[in-house]
Amino acid sequence: MSHVIHPVVIIGSGAAGMMAAIFAGNAGVPVLLLESRRVPGAKIRVSGGGRCNILPSIMTLADYHTSGSLNAMRNVLMSWPLEEVKRFFSSDLGIPMKVESTGKMFPVSDRSKDVVDALLAGLSRAHVTLRGEARVIDLVRDGDIFAITLESGETLRATRVVLSGGGLSMPRTGSDGGTWAMAKKLGHTVLPTYAALVPLLTDDRRWHDLAGLSLNVELDVRASGGKSLAKRREDFLFTHTGFSGPSTLDVSRHFTQPVPAEVLAASWAPGVDWERLFTTPQKRAVVTLVREYLPRRLADTLFERCGVPLERMASDLSREERKRLLTELTSCPLAVTGSEGYRTAEVTAGGIPLEELSLKTLESRVVPGLFICGEMLDVKGRIGGFNFLWAWVTGRRVGLTLAATSVLSPSAA
Ligand SMILES: Cc1cc2nc3c(=O)[nH]c(=O)nc-3n(C[C@H](O)[C@H](O)[C@H](O)COP(=O)(O)OP(=O)(O)OC[C@H]3O[C@@H](n4cnc5c(N)ncnc54)[C@H](O)[C@@H]3O)c2cc1C
Repeated sequence: MSHVIHPVVIIGSGAAGMMAAIFAGNAGVPVLLLESRRVPGAKIRVSGGGRCNILPSIMTLADYHTSGSLNAMRNVLMSWPLEEVKRFFSSDLGIPMKVESTGKMFPVSDRSKDVVDALLAGLSRAHVTLRGEARVIDLVRDGDIFAITLESGETLRATRVVLSGGGLSMPRTGSDGGTWAMAKKLGHTVLPTYAALVPLLTDDRRWHDLAGLSLNVELDVRASGGKSLAKRREDFLFTHTGFSGPSTLDVSRHFTQPVPAEVLAASWAPGVDWERLFTTPQKRAVVTLVREYLPRRLADTLFERCGVPLERMASDLSREERKRLLTELTSCPLAVTGSEGYRTAEVTAGGIPLEELSLKTLESRVVPGLFICGEMLDVKGRIGGFNFLWAWVTGRRVGLTLAATSVLSPSAA
């Protein structure tokens, strides 16, 4: 074991870890940033379809979910106002950004690599020591010091440690849940974890046949008693195995959580007054009417599902047929049989409750000297840059705490 005692070691160099390192390093704190992969920021590289949706342009608390206190979540989120985060990215890191019609903010270049490069340049300006291929496999507290064991067998020592190893989603990007196991071993609670922002599966082949079709829908998630748990109106995509698109991803956690929701229902052309259309006298087939609002393939599938013949004239539609058709169009049940799981999930829900940290500093209340940030915490956002925003905000909070509580040598200060 080396005799050197590092003032700060950060385990995990993703969005949160890099931000913590930049803010601590800029204040003169010597930071050692460990990353299991050869180069950091793998998840940032693949994010936003390779474009990186860095931030949302506006944010409310309703864009986030936690199983803990909303006040605690608000407290942390508001610690770095969104307008200041935008300024940091555009001015301090020098990434020109644009807002798209969806409200998402991307680099003007549309290249996630530019975001990683800007963060790496920020680390370098902050004199952070970055070590790639340094996977931590164990973390123990030995008196006032942490002992950090690397996969190579080497053991490092540190007075303060930051855990920023992410969740379980997309393990090929380096996050494998190992840092949760370390926190647990040190005494933290890890609330049940499950895939979120993930495509959903169905066994119903009629939906598989529509693969590639996308449209704007309203999804309604219902509990067993019929109570609506969430509604989301956004783009929706049929896949070869089920459902995807922002609307599905945003409600997906309800079907992956430990007690899943019962019903996912779609309104295919929200806003259309079908009842009025079907009761207005017309001399044409009902399906022709429906095809004016919905893609032909979907319209025909819905007729097949509810047993209304394609040739049925509007004037001949029976009351019973109209009822079945209305249900199919406005509250169509999509039989969800599972999800694509961590392989493709954008985030992992659950994790460490905020209640186990000091909200001001994000220092553990369980293990003094330990800090936790990013996806490891039990706060997750919807699609739209909200998860990176959480990672940036919590990473900065930790970095500022490290800066404020470090005893710097006169030359470092
Ligand atoms: C495909 C995809 C697209 C996404 N797109 C967006 C988007 O456009 N906008 C958005 O807001 N969010 C997006 N997300 C979510 C976002 O990427 C995460 O919320 C965010 O990266 C979490 O940051 P983090 O720093 O907490 O964890 P991570 O980014 O996962 O970083 C954790 C880092 O720790 C390292 N690590 C883990 N364990 C160890 C260990 N034991 N030792 C050393 N190092 C370790 C990992 O290799 C990794 O580099 C996307 C996610 C995915 C999977």
